[in-house]
Amino acid sequence: MFGILGGTFDPIHCGHLVLAEKAREAFQLEKVIVVPAAIPPHKIGEVATEACHRLKMVELAIRGNPWFEVSTVELDREGPSYSIDTIYELRKTFGSSETALIMGFDSLLELYSWKNYRSILAETKIITAFRPGYPILSDDQNWPSFLEDYRSQILKLEAPLLDISSTWLRVELMLGRSVKYLVPDLVIDYINSNGLYRDL
Ligand code: ATP
Repeated sequence: MFGILGGTFDPIHCGHLVLAEKAREAFQLEKVIVVPAAIPPHKIGEVATEACHRLKMVELAIRGNPWFEVSTVELDREGPSYSIDTIYELRKTFGSSETALIMGFDSLLELYSWKNYRSILAETKIITAFRPGYPILSDDQNWPSFLEDYRSQILKLEAPLLDISSTWLRVELMLGRSVKYLVPDLVIDYINSNGLYRDL
């Protein structure tokens, strides 16, 4: 089984990397494919950093980890990207039918708003880790009703809770504060040499 971690990665941070690494270890994933999302052109600059920068930061962040790979499948596609299409395409590329989407619990709670979320839940496992500030999904309570029928598809990951988000990091960077140990050093160097996140 291989894992897929999608996100905007604006910028990628240690919360993402710990999530991916702990998922790989806990569920013996063959690989974790990190998939930066395409952002509608009208949002670039306003709410999101250009894809080329987000992609480069992911490449730098995962450098040296033989289990991690980046995929540009969503960046290369015309029009909006839907996870179900990404899952099918990555299965073809990596020649494996078993996949697990890795996501924070905040994303899992929003899954019902994704296109074809029922097919996603039927087709693929979900590895989810808890994020500070979100409820914890225990065995018998707190299950959102849309997930009821798919409990067996959801694998709960025990991983350290890192209270880091890209939104918070963008503010810290804009204020000129240190993000060392929250973001890999190579990514920090890239942010500085390209003047990213200087304004909100
Ligand atoms: P933003 O603050 O811009 O919304 P983010 O930090 O949540 O960004 P995304 O790129 O949207 O990052 O996240 C990709 C995936 O990683 C999502 O499934 C999200 O739940 C998960 N994730 C992000 N940060 C953490 C964290 N600190 N711990 C666990 N999961 C996380």
